[in-house]
Amino acid sequence: MWTTGPIDELVHASTAALGLLVLARLIDAPRRFYVAALIASVAIDLDHIPLYLGLLGYQAQRPVTHSLSTVAVFIAASTASRRHRAVLAGLSTGLVLHFARDLAEGYPGVQVLWPLQGNSWMVSYRWFLGMIIVFTVARLVLVSAGLPHTRIPAFRTPSPSGSIPRFPGRPATSGDRRSGLEPLGPDLEAARGSGMPSGGQVTVARRRVPGPG
Ligand SMILES: [Zn+2]
Repeated sequence: MWTTGPIDELVHASTAALGLLVLARLIDAPRRFYVAALIASVAIDLDHIPLYLGLLGYQAQRPVTHSLSTVAVFIAASTASRRHRAVLAGLSTGLVLHFARDLAEGYPGVQVLWPLQGNSWMVSYRWFLGMIIVFTVARLVLVSAGLPHTRIPAFRTPSPSGSIPRFPGRPATSGDRRSGLEPLGPDLEAARGSGMPSGGQVTVARRRVPGPG
C-alpha cells in the first residue's frame, strides 16, 4: 500500500483533472467547483483507513462509502444548499470520476448500487484506457475547434441585483476573448497615455473612428 498508494492517488487526481478539463469547456463554473472535485477524487480513499487499521475486522470489499449512495448524498446536499452548491456539486463530480476509475482496478471492484444491490462491479482495464483517450481527444477537439462558442453558466451566485454578471456571447476562454478584440486605434493609444482605466479602453477600442475621405 505504501508503494502503490501514492501512485494510485496521483493517477486518480490526474484522471479527474483530465475529465474536468473537458467539463471546463462545456460549463462556466467557479474555481471552487474544480478544486472540490480534485480533492474529492483523492480524499474519498480516506474511507479505507479504518479498514487498514483493523477497526472493521477483515472485509473483502471496498467500504460502502465507495458507492453512488455517497454521490447521491452530496447531490442532495447541493440542491439543498444554495450557498455551497458549487463545492458540493464539485465533490459529487470528483467522486464519480474516482469510482469510474476504481471500477477498472480489478478485485474487489466497487459496490456501485449499495445498499440497493450488494454486488461488486468490475470492468476491464480497457475502460480506464478508454476514459483517458476519450477525455484527451474530447479536450483536444473542443479546444482546436473553438467549441462550444458559449459555455453554460453553472453554480454562479447571483449578484445583489439578482442577475448573473456575464457578457453575452462570451467566448469559452480568455484567450479566445483576447483574439476577438479589434486592433488598437490611435485614440486608444492616446487613452493609454492618459492613464485611462481598462474599462474605458475597451469602450474606446470598439468605437470606429471614420478616417479621412
Ligand atoms: Zn477508491
